[in-house]
Amino acid sequence: MPPPKMPNRDRIVDMLKVRSSHLKKGEPVSPPIISAAKYFLPGEPDTPYVYGRYANPTIEAAEAAIACLEGAPVVAFPSGMAAITAALAAATKAGDRILIPSDGYYNVRALLDEFLADRGLTVDLIATKDVSNADVSAYDLVWLETPSNPGLNTCDIEAVAKRVKATGGLLIVDNTTLTPLLQDPLSLGADITVCADTKAMSGHADVLFGHLATKDEALFERAQSWRRLSGSIAGPWEAFLVHRGLMTLELRLGRMCSNAVALQAAIDVGRSPLQSLTYPGIGFVMGLTFDTAGTAERFIDTCPLLLPATSFGGVHSSAERRARWGDDVSEGYVRLSVGCEPEDVFIEAILQALHDL
Ligand SMILES: *Cc1c(COP(=O)(O)O)cnc(C)c1O
Repeated sequence: MPPPKMPNRDRIVDMLKVRSSHLKKGEPVSPPIISAAKYFLPGEPDTPYVYGRYANPTIEAAEAAIACLEGAPVVAFPSGMAAITAALAAATKAGDRILIPSDGYYNVRALLDEFLADRGLTVDLIATKDVSNADVSAYDLVWLETPSNPGLNTCDIEAVAKRVKATGGLLIVDNTTLTPLLQDPLSLGADITVCADTKAMSGHADVLFGHLATKDEALFERAQSWRRLSGSIAGPWEAFLVHRGLMTLELRLGRMCSNAVALQAAIDVGRSPLQSLTYPGIGFVMGLTFDTAGTAERFIDTCPLLLPATSFGGVHSSAERRARWGDDVSEGYVRLSVGCEPEDVFIEAILQALHDL
């Protein structure tokens, strides 16, 4: 099996070295968990560390590692949704028209609908598969998520970026399903990229975290200011866990992606109980469509390897039927998050469960 496509793999080396390159003799190699609201601050407040809501060294260690992967400055947040909220706060003003995916992460639509649409933002929806060729000239902000969660539809970030730029708009890309190792929205023309580090970035399903990255200084400062003023600051323990998870990101993603490619090759859809198998050709999330909700649930229940859980990107393979949340996918659609199990064990378990249905 050839190594999985990982366009930005070199950045992992920068990330692995970023902390040690600043260490003094005798300092811990892992970042200390600094749990502090107050810092010792006599006289003028001429240090970055004045109060816990402003800055924290453990969060900065996680940000420095993620910044290597993004190739851009990073602001960390206590969840993916907190990063998304910050990106929207930094990039929008009253009167703006926003175009968002109709088939992307549901909570983004709900956030705009419940809290922002009635504060002077006009929000339109478009299917991810239609946005690459759409006329976006009327929009101040275009939001993409590709591959989209949960349906795994894709679009051409670079093509959309060119058109958005031509009419002076901003482009934000939610890169959670691929991570910056597999797709680099900033180099494709996005102004901001956001990512739920809760998923593959931290990778162990034990922490909520998120970040945004941007090369635009004004947007970066606004995002930092939003964090300070809204109080959307992560905890040091969470930042430590994310930092620790990131150290094995390339290893985990490599296994997850090669397991996904191997599973696609191993399943003969025509001779299986599946109606279809959706795999964008990159990443570790796959869609398995069964004829009914019952068959889909039976598949999840009978496969001993699959963790029945929401979320994705963890070391365990997990699966869920997304229509149970009301997502606009068929009743028998299962989102499969391919994990780090040994390839032969993983393939055998899935094929056996399909056979036993
Ligand atoms: C999970 C997810 C989020 C939200 O992340 P949280 O850490 O749960 O807030 C945002 N976007 C996408 C695409 C996601 O999958």
